[in-house]
Amino acid sequence: MTEAWGPDDRRPSGPVRVRVPAKINLHLGVGALRPDGFHELTTVYHAISLFDELRASPGDTLTLTMEGEGAGELALDETNLVIRAARALAAHTRVPAYARLHLRKSIPLAGGLAGGSADAAAALLACDALWGTGVPRDELAELGGTLGSDVPFLLHGGTALGTGHGEAISPVLARPSTWHWVIAVAHDGLATPDVYRELDRLRGAGLAPTALDSPDDLMSALRQRNPEVLGDELGNDLQAAALSLRPELAEVLKAGQAAGAVTGIVSGSGPSCVFLATDAGHAERVAAGLTAAGVCREARTARGPMPGARIT
Ligand code: ATP
Repeated sequence: MTEAWGPDDRRPSGPVRVRVPAKINLHLGVGALRPDGFHELTTVYHAISLFDELRASPGDTLTLTMEGEGAGELALDETNLVIRAARALAAHTRVPAYARLHLRKSIPLAGGLAGGSADAAAALLACDALWGTGVPRDELAELGGTLGSDVPFLLHGGTALGTGHGEAISPVLARPSTWHWVIAVAHDGLATPDVYRELDRLRGAGLAPTALDSPDDLMSALRQRNPEVLGDELGNDLQAAALSLRPELAEVLKAGQAAGAVTGIVSGSGPSCVFLATDAGHAERVAAGLTAAGVCREARTARGPMPGARIT
């Protein structure tokens, strides 16, 4: 394909820095497996204050370096979602995919927190700014949805309902309030496809599937400022599958309750567990209790909702 613009047009300026949050699912309803290999979902996404940062500078080729969570472990080649996102945007806008990208990662790998999708969202936004391609956010989200189901939400941020396979986003209108969370990070990740497969296996063996109803009670809980009310409405259909693959997660959930959390659930496909606290001080105490129980690699406090990927 010929490039739509040459080296002298719209020269990239830079560097561009983008900060992107992790997500948790306040509700994750998993329906039937579709013929395209995706499960039908009804989910309520919530962006929290664990961030990755991506810096994009002009370059003669496309390169990626990284530091932080997963450095030395995560491939930095064409399989990395940052590179895949940059290539997808370049193809979409017909510009050469030239950039030096550097990722500072603090979202744990394969933790059910959508770190890879977050990085793809950051790369779309950073390269769009670096290359001056001016793609509207909705179009970036559509492109992002081809890279990962959570990418559109991570461009959007806040709290939002996700349908389809999670890529169709509509914002949840809630009274502005901040929720306090503790994330128990596991020593090793879980591969999302394995967790969905385990859910299908459990359902095949008799686990009753849930109806994919709109989570109205959760929506109404989000409009109140009472963590106890919200706590009662959190739910995750993938939790049974994550617990089946990692029975020790039951100990993490128990330790969080013992540390005084309002409630705790597995985050997305796990193995991170997420606990609701009443305020920042309470979150610190729950995190300290989880750390003392020795059931996780680390316990991090976070707030939500947070904006989606943003240029800083
Ligand atoms: P989700 O909640 O979206 O299912 P997750 O939080 O469980 O995902 P991720 O950290 O998003 O897991 O990564 C899943 C896999 O994606 C990794 O194991 C890795 O092989 C691949 N991957 C590719 N690029 C990245 C990236 N930039 N960051 C993290 N993982 C990446």
